[in-house]
Amino acid sequence: MSQPIHIIGGGLAGSEAAWQAACAGVPVIVHEMRPVRMTEVHKTADLAELVCSNSLRSDDAQANAVGLLHEEMRRAGSLILSAGDANKLPAGGALAVDRDGFSATITRRLEAHPLITISRAEVTGLPPTDWRNVIVATGPLTSPALATAIQQLTGETELAFFDAIAPIVHLHSIDQTVTWRQSRYHKAGPAGTGADYINCPMTSVQYQAFIDALLAAEATSFKDWEASTPYFDGCLPIEVMAQRGRETLRYGPMKPVGLCNPHAPDQRPYAVVQLRQDNILGTLWNMVGFQTKLRHGEQVRVFRTIPGLERAEFARLGGLHRNTFLNSPKLLDAELRLRAQPRLRFAGQITGCEGYVESAAIGLLAGRSAAAQPRGERWLPPPPTTAFGALLAHITGGHISAAAEDARHSFQPMNVNFGLFPPLEAPSHDTSGRRVKGKERGLARKRALSARALADLDRWLAAPATCAAAQ
Ligand SMILES: Cc1cc2nc3c(=O)[nH]c(=O)nc-3n(C[C@H](O)[C@H](O)[C@H](O)COP(=O)(O)OP(=O)(O)OC[C@H]3O[C@@H](n4cnc5c(N)ncnc54)[C@H](O)[C@@H]3O)c2cc1C
Repeated sequence: MSQPIHIIGGGLAGSEAAWQAACAGVPVIVHEMRPVRMTEVHKTADLAELVCSNSLRSDDAQANAVGLLHEEMRRAGSLILSAGDANKLPAGGALAVDRDGFSATITRRLEAHPLITISRAEVTGLPPTDWRNVIVATGPLTSPALATAIQQLTGETELAFFDAIAPIVHLHSIDQTVTWRQSRYHKAGPAGTGADYINCPMTSVQYQAFIDALLAAEATSFKDWEASTPYFDGCLPIEVMAQRGRETLRYGPMKPVGLCNPHAPDQRPYAVVQLRQDNILGTLWNMVGFQTKLRHGEQVRVFRTIPGLERAEFARLGGLHRNTFLNSPKLLDAELRLRAQPRLRFAGQITGCEGYVESAAIGLLAGRSAAAQPRGERWLPPPPTTAFGALLAHITGGHISAAAEDARHSFQPMNVNFGLFPPLEAPSHDTSGRRVKGKERGLARKRALSARALADLDRWLAAPATCAAAQ
């Protein structure tokens, strides 16, 4: 029998990784510290505990990227999805679950699997050198001792303990008749062209109205256990900056200097919101310096008052939370292995994906890739046209890191969304030859992306090293 895979953390990612590896015939030891040591948010000893909402979000595989990821996971024999389906509750188009039943199902199946051993103990440092095949899936609340050891291995700035997420907008929803492309002072920098930012201009009246809206908008607060986590002055939420003075943002992320609006060359903008390309595909654009703790609904309302963003579709909304995540695009290879020490794979939220489903999906891929190693097989990552592949490609290289981002790395956690997929032209006519426009066209584009993803996924799964469906 081959050497076991050691999986540290029996959460969403670790549980799925264990299932996939064991299904591939490789023995697994899951090291889970609960209930011996609890995190600030987990309440039970169960594996794959849902720490907050009981929803795995949309189950619409045709028009929603997370719904598509559900379907891909089902086809790949996911334990998490199978337990979700077995414990589902009425929730419209969403897959909501009975949380206790969900985690109990997963715990029972993993405990019953003949190739899986569960060890209830904290791993307090880097795994011993004789653990040759390790998956670290310790999540956003990785215990401090292990987090410190990982940080020593990766370098201080490469493991973050707080995320500072600025909203991300789909390029196709930005009004290009109002905005223009230009870097400040046309500077090209090491990798640019001098036209690397999308600029949204504001008049004085628009700026003052925006500040009023920002100050009046409702924000979420830090939880008690989050409040003690240090975060840098350089990533203050924009609403906090606005509270420090009405002009603060105009001297910070919204400064209008070095920019000239070709739509109105005689008028100097009073303030400018800049968006920077966020992924190599160029489909997603990040609102520079706009990390925020405003409620999601408020973000959409307030940010759509910005000229050029009136119809913005957000791939991700802003937030600031306690988290633990690696600068994965720099540190991990395409198989989620630490470049500096390839015996260590990472999975789940610690890789910089965001959400229960995404964490489990990355766990699924890590489990399969780790299982291929002792069997002497070459693991091919899923095609980037699938939801699995799009998410994996983003966290292992698809994100573009900004050069000057203080001491922090600019990579921030990401949900799965259609902006991560290689673009596809939406069909311009329906099957009856009628022209498709507006929202209908957007829907047609998502359907086309989903259909391509599932066809490519089936081809990938048909390759030899696939896992039997969860029973
Ligand atoms: C407060 C909070 C609320 C969230 N709410 C949602 C939500 O509503 N919806 C959503 O989609 N996502 C949510 N998330 C984000 C994320 O999806 C979840 O945290 C998800 O559980 C991540 O999965 P994971 O497997 O990476 O980590 P986890 O599920 O947290 O699993 C990690 C496991 O590792 C164990 N562990 C940690 N350190 C060690 C160690 N040294 N040795 C052994 N075991 C260890 C932990 O006990 C835990 O069981 C939330 C995150 C947080 C922090």
